[in-house]
Amino acid sequence: LNRRLAEFGTTIFAEMSALALRTGSINLGQGFPDTDGPEEVREAAVRALRDGRGNQYPPGPGIPELRTAVAAHQQRRYDLSYDPDTEVLVTAGATEAIAAALLALVEPGDEVIALEPYYDSYAACIALAGGTRVPVTLRPADGRFRLDLDELRDAVTDRTRLLLLNTPHNPTGTVLTREELAAIAALAVERDLLVVTDEVYEHLVFDDAEHVPLASFPGMRERTVTISSAGKTFSFTGWKVGWVTAAPELVTAVRSAKQFLTYVSAGPFQYAVAEALALPDSYFEAFRADLLAKRDVLAAGLEEAGFSVYRPSGTYFVTADIRPLGESDGIAFCRALPERAGVVAIPTAVFYDHREMGAPFVRFAFCKQKAVLEEAARRLKAAG
Ligand code: PMP
Ligand code: GLN
Repeated sequence: LNRRLAEFGTTIFAEMSALALRTGSINLGQGFPDTDGPEEVREAAVRALRDGRGNQYPPGPGIPELRTAVAAHQQRRYDLSYDPDTEVLVTAGATEAIAAALLALVEPGDEVIALEPYYDSYAACIALAGGTRVPVTLRPADGRFRLDLDELRDAVTDRTRLLLLNTPHNPTGTVLTREELAAIAALAVERDLLVVTDEVYEHLVFDDAEHVPLASFPGMRERTVTISSAGKTFSFTGWKVGWVTAAPELVTAVRSAKQFLTYVSAGPFQYAVAEALALPDSYFEAFRADLLAKRDVLAAGLEEAGFSVYRPSGTYFVTADIRPLGESDGIAFCRALPERAGVVAIPTAVFYDHREMGAPFVRFAFCKQKAVLEEAARRLKAAG
């Protein structure tokens, strides 16, 4: 293994999902739903397979139907207009989009700012691109993990190439507010930064939180690579269909890297996701209401089991503080939890460079059936 990758080992998701299987635990670690997405979207994939659409290499940038559907979605939801031919690229999930964007845009030695704790592929892809990561830490305050805008401003240097943003934010569940995003946009314009923004949880926002794409702020459209994916929005994490929207030069750059990573992603699923993106608003509303109810079941259960809980404004994840249980090391806690309680969770510390800052936090996924969440809560309470 080369030096760039050596520090990363096996992803925490593989380790913890294997542990869940081995111990027969309820897996609230890796974020994937235990109920598949809409029947009609599954049928669309079957139809494409059966009719011979996408069974041979689809076009490199993605099938036109899906690129058009992505552009229409950005227009309908956010009033952002993108040309499906030059400003949309289909990728093998958001994961490939992140990798391709960083490989395409970062020069060795460039600094990349990322919000800490960060999704694990960010650090690895920054390293693969030869960049240096500069974490800006989200700090818990008033029940939410907050971005300190002064800290972000101070992190920018002459070597900063890009800002890697994520909202709604995994693992904390924070949704950046319109005011925070406006300030980030102003900083990006002032310091002439590129921004790669991972918005895979764009439809998973709760209460009065609102997802606002960074690309919609003044001066941002031309400097922002927006990434999303069908996995979370339609509950098909196994399909690995993602996409990028950006100005033509940026899409061309990302595509240059993508063509040598996967060239294209699986054809039939692209046809199905094109149909999914055109589902009526009622689908998105029902999906969000269902997840919100699950969030509340898990958050209440964790509170009853003695954790202190950050109720998230978005994503699949609740962050719990283990200190009220008399514990302080989330990694040790999560390694012991399957044997102790028959539940798997992810130690938030693994998403930090400053591991000590994440030590007392544990991430639980609530994209599971209510009965499963209730059983997990019961087990956690019994294990006390
Ligand atoms: N970004 C974030 C923040 C994620 O949480 C995930 C998946 N859990 C991804 C990207 C990857 O998405 P995909 O499965 O579409 O590759
Ligand atoms: N994004 C999912 C999570 O955060 C996992 C994705 C993966 O397994 N790489 O749990």
